[in-house]
Amino acid sequence: MIKIRGLTKRYGEFEALKGIDLDVAPGEFLVVLGPSGAGKSTLLRCINRLCEPTRGDIHVDGQLVTDDSASLRKLRRQVAMIFQHYNVVPRLSVQKNVLTGRLGAMPSLLSWLQVFPRKDIAIAHECLKRVELDEKAELRTDTLSGGQKQRVGIARALAQQPKIILADEPVASLDPKTSRTVLTYLQQASRELGISVVCNLHQIEYAREFGERIVGVSAGRVVFEGGPDALTDDV
Ligand code: ADP
Ligand code: ADP
Repeated sequence: MIKIRGLTKRYGEFEALKGIDLDVAPGEFLVVLGPSGAGKSTLLRCINRLCEPTRGDIHVDGQLVTDDSASLRKLRRQVAMIFQHYNVVPRLSVQKNVLTGRLGAMPSLLSWLQVFPRKDIAIAHECLKRVELDEKAELRTDTLSGGQKQRVGIARALAQQPKIILADEPVASLDPKTSRTVLTYLQQASRELGISVVCNLHQIEYAREFGERIVGVSAGRVVFEGGPDALTDDV
């Protein structure tokens, strides 16, 4: 689903990624594990072209990603993001936040008027049910806890009906119990809907518990690749 070859990213003189090769299979739950500053965020942002690779090729769903607008539009439809700080709109209802995941699929006049087709409302409802927040649909999102906000983030990503979800440290701001709940919903999305999930984490215990496969990144290079059982404490 994702094929990365020779990916290098430089910020000025500083090389944040130093030649990454990586494949992600359809429906796979891949954990990218590494300390802060390893380049995990940069890797995800190169995949969805929030930042431009310095060198290397990225194929998504069999197509080389380029900077022409048709390629980027397709990429934005196929790839959804989840962020450490949730990036929800606090004053909007839970349902409206999830509906923003549908905006790319809506005619621009409708989205400008914030009139949502019935089909999109049904999709939003179904996604909220997946993260067990359907009963909070009408609440303002800033009344929710951190874990609930991240579940809204997951529902919004699912509403996009993506092939890939990129999750950048989705549980770094959450306590252990809430973290496991959030990661479980992400895992279910990948298992039940066949979505490829690439999830950046820095805690080895969550990587072991949730990763089907783990790629260790350190100082811009892949330094480990294997199943959860192969992960020793000194990675
Ligand atoms: P991680 O997600 O693993 O914490 P990042 O990808 O955020 O790592 O960062 C990797 C390295 O690149 C860090 O040293 C960081 O300071 C640097 N970096 C990230 N973004 C930028 C940027 N926009 N400009 C300059 N340096 C950056
Ligand atoms: P996080 O901890 O959530 O990964 P960071 O603090 O690493 O966030 O980065 C937040 C933002 O700052 C990102 O957009 C990243 O590109 C940018 N950034 C990170 N390190 C640097 C840096 N050394 N110089 C310039 N921008 C940076």
